[in-house]
Amino acid sequence: MARISIDLKAGKIAKPHTDTIIGIDLGTTNSLVAYVAEGKPVAVKDKKNKHTLVPSIVHFTQSGEVIVGDEARERLVTDPEHTVYSVKRLMGKSYNDLRDLRQFFGYQIIDDDADSLVKIRVGDKFFTPIELSAEILRALKTRVEEALGNPVSKAVITVPAYFNDAQRQATRDAGRLAGLDVLRIINEPTAASLAYGLGLADAQTIAVYDLGGGTFDISVLQIQDGIFEVLSTNGDTFLGGDDFDRAIINFWMGNNRLDPQTLQTDKPLHQQLRLLAEKAKKALTINELFSEKINGLDCGISRNDFEALIAPLVEKTITCCQTALKDAKLGISDILHVVMVGGSTRVPLVKKLVAGFFKKEVYDSLDPDEVVALGAAIQADVLAGNQQDVLLLDITPLSLGIETMGGLMDVIIPRNSKVPMKAGRQYTTSIDGQKNLKIAVFQGERDLVEHNRKLGEFILQGIPPMPAGLPKIEVHFIINADGILKVKAKELRSGTEQAIDIRPTYGISGEDMARMLLDSIQNAQTDMKTRALLDARNEARHIILSAEKFVAQNRKFFSETEIATTVSLTNSLKKVAEVSDKDLINKAIQELNEFTNPLAHRAMDKTILEAMKGKKV
Ligand code: ADP
Ligand code: MG
Repeated sequence: MARISIDLKAGKIAKPHTDTIIGIDLGTTNSLVAYVAEGKPVAVKDKKNKHTLVPSIVHFTQSGEVIVGDEARERLVTDPEHTVYSVKRLMGKSYNDLRDLRQFFGYQIIDDDADSLVKIRVGDKFFTPIELSAEILRALKTRVEEALGNPVSKAVITVPAYFNDAQRQATRDAGRLAGLDVLRIINEPTAASLAYGLGLADAQTIAVYDLGGGTFDISVLQIQDGIFEVLSTNGDTFLGGDDFDRAIINFWMGNNRLDPQTLQTDKPLHQQLRLLAEKAKKALTINELFSEKINGLDCGISRNDFEALIAPLVEKTITCCQTALKDAKLGISDILHVVMVGGSTRVPLVKKLVAGFFKKEVYDSLDPDEVVALGAAIQADVLAGNQQDVLLLDITPLSLGIETMGGLMDVIIPRNSKVPMKAGRQYTTSIDGQKNLKIAVFQGERDLVEHNRKLGEFILQGIPPMPAGLPKIEVHFIINADGILKVKAKELRSGTEQAIDIRPTYGISGEDMARMLLDSIQNAQTDMKTRALLDARNEARHIILSAEKFVAQNRKFFSETEIATTVSLTNSLKKVAEVSDKDLINKAIQELNEFTNPLAHRAMDKTILEAMKGKKV
């Protein structure tokens, strides 16, 4: 039902602003939404009209209800198993990408297929990071709709400047799943400088220093004629305000002669101390001293103590700034302004050291939590046609190319190229009468494609039979303003043509996407269930066959019990594959995989060893 608002002053029915385009900062720790009202960007507050920040935390209740934000944050203490945080770190990643970071996450990351997009297990359900991010976006969408009193459907979403294609695509997919038409994905530092209105008049080079809860990014931008170009980026994906909190906790543990190890076992105390440490840190931004007691522990700290604790961490960020300048081939004097972004830049020592390094006052008049969302709202307003056009130009973070003979990487668009961008090259066939040519697209800087990251592939079919070397096949790479890649191949003599938008292997398959879209349409729930179940069954069938083949071929390498367990896990999977619960099936798949993975590695090692013995090197 459409709502009509009445403009009381003018005494007429107000034009509904159904075309408001919103700006969203989808953060690791906090997210927020903003829009432009009467020419000014505003961040939207919660129902109590207090906070603009929405903690990027998703909680699932027993009854299957989804809770996002402050309330979900409380559940992190009371029900950590069903509460997911830092999803942004998982966007567009495979299990292989995250292998070494597993311990960081309190929740379970699933590795049923190490090369495809990760899934997260919450209780007995499985979710992709895209689905979880969509929950956060949906909460933001609801918030702004309640504030405006009418529905919104279009958005600009920000991402870190270093996000690759897969991560940008994942963010876009999350938006789509949340019912948002994502008009643009823009870089966070670009948004921050837009919020300060930098570079709209004169050409200039600036630095954007972003210290959030768990991550640090420094970006050097050149702005000219309203075009934003990222010259370099640097940072640390595991450095932020959370580390400041941890330093305070350790300080208190020491003062109370307690072993920090006790926190490992006393989780409730740990959570209490974490909240108190954050409170202390924020208090020390204004006051010289903080003092409180919990559970008989003396939790006092002065600003001097705090600064001594965090100085090495802040110094680390300064080293990153140095590297970013070096990569951009610039000196400190080339930087006209330094923009402060992220809650942790409120810490006085951070401001002092950053200003000291760049030898100038930093830009901090806007709220550092809100500045990215405000900039996104301005960009949204530009797209809505309400402001003079500001073009956004970004760079490709990694080289893009295709696989050629012998598994070599042939770069078509080198890293740090500006986007939008188009580049092409000619290839030919290597076999007489070759009819098909596989185009496999990779991203990365290594010479062999096996060391780079595969983004996708397709086959150019219908090349007319010709002797090897005669066909002329032109491959084009086109990157649009969002940094999303389209690859086209054309045989020039025959005109045969084929193209793909890169739906990275890492990203999500068309089928998965369809399934998730169905999920968001409530009354299509049964359809979705059937489909998800069929998918899970297919996967189970595939895995049962491989497990049986594996046991048959490698029997000699394993003990009786190992074989018995594999067989029994396979049998359990066979059984659950017949019932109608995809989560049960996924769980059984996971159990079988977890058990057989180390066996497979062992079998492989032994096979190689045997082959070498037989061969005489
Ligand atoms: P992200 O970009 O990672 O989502 P934010 O920019 O929202 O993160 O920053 C969150 C961090 O900022 C948290 O570690 C929080 O404790 C810290 N923070 C917020 N306000 C203050 C303050 N007044 N003083 C010090 N740190 C603060
Ligand atoms: Mg941020």
